[in-house]
Formats: sequence, C-alpha cells, structure tokens
Amino acid sequence: MSTRAIVVVLGKQGAGKGTQCKRLAQHLDIPHVSTGDILRAAVRDKTQVGLEVASILEAGQLVSDDLVNRLVKERFNEADAARGALLDGFPRTDVQAEALDEILGDDGVKICINLDVPNALVADRLSSRRVCQECGAIYTDSDIEAISGTCTNCGGDVVQRADDMPEAIIKRLEVYERDTAPLLSFYESRGLLVRVDGDQDPQEVTAEILEVLTERGIG
Ligand code: AMP
Repeated sequence: MSTRAIVVVLGKQGAGKGTQCKRLAQHLDIPHVSTGDILRAAVRDKTQVGLEVASILEAGQLVSDDLVNRLVKERFNEADAARGALLDGFPRTDVQAEALDEILGDDGVKICINLDVPNALVADRLSSRRVCQECGAIYTDSDIEAISGTCTNCGGDVVQRADDMPEAIIKRLEVYERDTAPLLSFYESRGLLVRVDGDQDPQEVTAEILEVLTERGIG
C-alpha cells in the first residue's frame, strides 16, 4: 500500500476544517491544501482565474468542477505533496470526488474525516469569523480588539470574508446540503469515513483526529 497520506477533511462551512487542517499539517508535516484559500489568493492577486471566480465566491456559489479539479491537479504536482496532503474544501461534489481518484491514481484517499457540528453553531461561528488576508490565519471577532485588526502571524490585515455575510452564509449552507453532504455516503461506502465531534475545544478535536490517524497507520 502506498504511504502517501491523503486525508480528506469534510464538514459544513464553519465546522473547523481550516483550523484543524492547519494544526494537523504541523503535526503530520504534510501540506494543507484548501481550494478556498487557493481561489481567494487568485482573487486577491487579480489573476485571470481570480477575475473569473470573484463574483461566484462572493455569492457563496461553487466554481466549476473543471476549474477546481485543474487547480488541485496542479497543486498535487508540487514537491511538498509527494508525502500527502490534508484536503480542505475539496472534493465538494461527486464529480470532484471522482476526479480526485483519477488525479491520485494508486495513491487513493486514505481516510475522510467529517467534522460534525450542529447547524445552530455553524452560522454563529461563520458570522464571527475573521481571516488574515495574507496568510489565512483564523480569528474570531472578539480577538480583533486584542490584535488591532493585524495578524499576529504575518502582520497582514484581518478582515471579514465577503462570503461570511448572512446572505452568503445561507446560500453556502444550502449548497453544502445539496452538493457536498452526499459525499459522506460516498466515503462511508468505501469504509473511509470517520466522524469526529467538531463541537469541542479545537485542541481536543485535533487530538481525536490524530488518534484516529495513528490507529489507521496514517501520517
Ligand atoms: P471555502 O473557504 O472552502 O469555504 O471556499 C470558499 C469558496 O470558494 C466557496 O464558497 C466556493 O465559492 C469556492 N470553492 C472552494 N472550494 C471549492 C470547490 N471544491 N468547488 C467549487 N467551489 C469551491
């Protein structure tokens, strides 16, 4: 069996995927691959892809499968992904899940962690979330005063994402239920799905995930 640690992290928006993947990436020394971060960087840098997708991201809709599949394929060609990756926000549709299998070839997905979080918590977390525009570090609105709106990691500006506004949050959760929730049965039917309670202290969530990965010999 290949030892490439490909870990898919699923969960609704606000379930803590970004926070957990950042922490796990440090523990496991594999990259955190977030399609949302890749797309937001393209929008910020006004690349051709960025100009194409800016309004889609702002509205909380999904960009085309073809485009994200291509971006992920390119990302997997980079040297640091040879040992594995923590996938955050990808796959998000059944077409993307099939494409991921094709991209990985024999190095299939090793495990899919779903961060379970009750619906009521998600909207609260998203509306109070603030993000560094430069490095993607995640804060809450109550941190902002303490850090004066400046990222403590890199000095970048910490802002509210346009798609964390109430209208876009509702849209994104609808899109999640329609397009992404069915992936749980896709991975469950292959014996790859593990559900973790995301409504705990972030350190506890990380510890639980690391335990599961160790049990399965991943990382
Ligand atoms: P995220 O940070 O994962 O919530 O992603 C932010 C936004 O980027 C989403 O609302 C989509 O507009 C877009 N996006 C990120 N990943 C994907 C994906 N796998 N497929 C389609 N759109 C995506």
